[in-house]
Amino acid sequence: MPWTLEHCPANEEWSKSFATEAEAVTELRKHICDSCMTGKFEYVDTEQPDGVGVEVHKAPNPESSYDLLSTPCGCEYELREDEQ
Ligand SMILES: [Zn+2]
Repeated sequence: MPWTLEHCPANEEWSKSFATEAEAVTELRKHICDSCMTGKFEYVDTEQPDGVGVEVHKAPNPESSYDLLSTPCGCEYELREDEQ
């Protein structure tokens, strides 16, 4: 099982192993919310009179571990390829 997906910080004690990167990416996607997948984030700014809106970011490529790990949800995870 050369690929390990881990939740960070390590006190969450969650990690899974996969044979291929594609399988690890499929699992990782399950932990990423719709906002992160679409790149659209609703926000509320209480300092502003009309401080509610949607911030639009570039949507991640759903097949790319790099893109997924770069999202706010994905950055809580770490994916590594283990030495055989
Ligand atoms: Zn998210």
